[in-house]
Amino acid sequence: MKRRLIFLAEEARRQRAALYAVGGCVRDWLLGRRTFDIDLAVEGDSQALARAAARLWGASLEVFDRFGTVCLRLSDGSRVDFARARAETYERPAALPRVQPASIHEDLRRRDFTLNAMARRITTDGLGDVLDPFGGRADLKAKLLRVLHPKSFEDDPTRIFRAARYAARFGLRVEEETARLIEDAVRKDTPGLLSRERIRQELLRTLEEDEPGPAMGLLKEWGLAKAIHPCFQWPKNAGQEKDPLVRLGLCALWMERGAEFVRSLKLDRAVSQALIQALGHAQEERSPVNPLPELALRILKAGLDRLPKTALESLMVNGEDIKKLGRKPGKEYSLLLGEAASAQWRGEFSTRAQALRWLKGKLACR
Ligand code: ATP
Repeated sequence: MKRRLIFLAEEARRQRAALYAVGGCVRDWLLGRRTFDIDLAVEGDSQALARAAARLWGASLEVFDRFGTVCLRLSDGSRVDFARARAETYERPAALPRVQPASIHEDLRRRDFTLNAMARRITTDGLGDVLDPFGGRADLKAKLLRVLHPKSFEDDPTRIFRAARYAARFGLRVEEETARLIEDAVRKDTPGLLSRERIRQELLRTLEEDEPGPAMGLLKEWGLAKAIHPCFQWPKNAGQEKDPLVRLGLCALWMERGAEFVRSLKLDRAVSQALIQALGHAQEERSPVNPLPELALRILKAGLDRLPKTALESLMVNGEDIKKLGRKPGKEYSLLLGEAASAQWRGEFSTRAQALRWLKGKLACR
């Protein structure tokens, strides 16, 4: 990747733009960790440079946010974001910022923590020295998470979620003043001002951590779990599942008011429906009439112990079968099929032949 970037520096020079690697990738390089996401800040026309990079690297290009950030996805799975170096101002707590083009130094000043406020110039000669105006390198060494200024969490309370992730992922201690500012922000309920979409994004990013448990523990300790939902808690074993959406489903499955929680997150429609279906079947303890979506199946399999083998398969009998046994269509059909769905869930039958025998037996007793 570094070689690719140096190659791009030639194009930046032609465009009279200054190109910097910035944020998480600089931190991860210092830590000797592999990184698949590179953030580039450009003093110059970031979109023109991104288009040139897409041509050079044969990558596809998408513009993905209101700040005009362009994302390139490379064939090896990594992604490179291009953004104009910019300054931000916040008009009120938790609002989205107003942005304007600025120098790389201004750009570093708008960032969340010292460890993320470092950059390296990329030139045709290679990567330059680390620009580190806030002492990020020293903090990394001392394993300290430190915010850049006292209004940081008020401006953007999502940074508290980010703090939990970084502290947990890198085993950092939250520096004293930073910890006090978190306490202050939570006491004033600044996170309560965030939209559900932004809460969802932070929650999903936390669920994407290799092991979300420690970050979830910090969120709870800091009183942030209630901004996710008043009943939210992290179930101990959910970390064994790797898919963040299955993890989310397990949280919903094991908490009170799980369906309300899922709806509040305004997830993608298909995901939301799969989660709600999983919760519904777990609560009613009935096999589904129609095949369940893959995500619902994975949540239920992960979340429910000792479920009979065919509990999650589609119901093995239907109205046609009842009709063939001589009953006229009516209210009885839905009652019987409901009972059959509960019986299949409990494992009272597990093949179609057994299911038909079960049905005959039921009808004989009526
Ligand atoms: P990760 O390591 O979790 O993938 P990252 O540290 O690369 O994440 P991103 O969320 O990808 O962080 O953002 C890239 C950089 O943008 C961060 O390193 C930080 O400098 C800055 N940044 C992102 N979100 C914020 C925010 N809410 N407030 C201030 N700076 C932010």
